[in-house]
Amino acid sequence: MNGVRTISILGSTGSIGTSALSVVEHANVQSPDTVFEIDTLTGGQNAELLIKQARQFKPKCVVIADPDKREQVQDALSDLNIEVSAGTDAIEEVARRPVDRLLAAIVGISGLPSTLAAVEAGNSIALANKESMVCAGPLLNRIAADREVAIVPTDSEHNAMFQVMERREDVERIILTASGGPFRTASREELKTVTPRRALAHPRWDMGQKISIDSATLFNKGLELIEACYLFDLPEDQIEVVVHPQSILHSAVAYRDGSVLAQMGVPDMRTPIAHALTWPDRREPTPVDRLDLVALSQLDFEALDAKKFPAVDLSRQAIRVGKGAPIALNCANEGAVAAFLTGQCGFLDISWIVETVLERFLNGPMSCEDCENLEAILAIQAEAERLTGALLDEVKSQKQERTA
Ligand code: NDP
Ligand code: MG
Repeated sequence: MNGVRTISILGSTGSIGTSALSVVEHANVQSPDTVFEIDTLTGGQNAELLIKQARQFKPKCVVIADPDKREQVQDALSDLNIEVSAGTDAIEEVARRPVDRLLAAIVGISGLPSTLAAVEAGNSIALANKESMVCAGPLLNRIAADREVAIVPTDSEHNAMFQVMERREDVERIILTASGGPFRTASREELKTVTPRRALAHPRWDMGQKISIDSATLFNKGLELIEACYLFDLPEDQIEVVVHPQSILHSAVAYRDGSVLAQMGVPDMRTPIAHALTWPDRREPTPVDRLDLVALSQLDFEALDAKKFPAVDLSRQAIRVGKGAPIALNCANEGAVAAFLTGQCGFLDISWIVETVLERFLNGPMSCEDCENLEAILAIQAEAERLTGALLDEVKSQKQERTA
């Protein structure tokens, strides 16, 4: 693709969104011509940052999800020719505006309606919002194939796989690497007392709160395993999870002839974001540090401790069952993470809640239902949230009993 690229960023005020804007700024400053033009930026709650971004990048549209903040954003941008709207429906609407690529970077299943709207409208997407793929992989793939639009994986591991993916039929297995998170070397006993502050301190990546907790529990790797199954149409037993604490080798694809192709780079999301925004080109320089293998001298790999971190095995179980099971797993995890962050449950309760919700869901009437449209997916989300809420009540009453 030559000339200016028009892009939209949904979730521009988040960790991925701000990294993407850093890529855009760098490319536009480095090049004598404009490389990227921004059509739309959206935020959730953070009106101040969204306003600042809009003043700097001059998009055509800005949407704030929180309707109470519409006036604040509108007033602050009234001297610029920017359309301002608010609410989740407005985000779905702007996702349909034609662009060269739309970066889906809202966190959680809340990003699904707009990701789906973008693909339905024929927009090619850079997909960071992994929960969209986990909850609606078959639906997104079908619509993308119908509309002939690309879904370019932006999660670093999947972007790595995508970069080294040759002919799908020659693939023997995928090696999905995991940093192991902040508690890689902690004992199961130590995990009982983990606080949100400690869990949020990731050793390699600076990320949003939800994915930071997911990295600590290893549910991030479980979600990524499901994401990889859907993105590359592979069964879970062809995906091997390997712990690689330095996060330099971002994932690899092994072929039938014994070759293993891996993608490497320093752990900085701006590389996969730049790749996903410009694919199939690779022309724009990024401001990331360059990899120095001699300085690094060593890369380590180890097996995942599935007893300590049951998240990946639970995710394997969910994707083997398919249908609504990955949605139930994802939504139980979202609910449990939110509860952990607000002190309503402990760190180890997260995997207990996900396991129990999955079990109850699989024994319930909704486990056989197909998830061929958004409505069906949202119904499973509601059921998983109900089951999660009931378990959180149990945790609360146990806590009260213990303190009484
Ligand atoms: P953040 O929490 O940092 O940012 C999330 C973004 O979504 C913010 O712009 C936030 O707005 C917005 N948002 C939150 N809730 C809503 C909602 N209900 N409606 C509309 N907008 C909403 O998350 P990250 O950037 O870390 O992650 C984004 C996605 O990318 C996730 O799916 C994550 O798994 C994935 N990802 C992230 C990586 C990373 O390094 N951070 C790496 C790989 C994948 P506001 O802040 O204004 O409230
Ligand atoms: Mg990742």
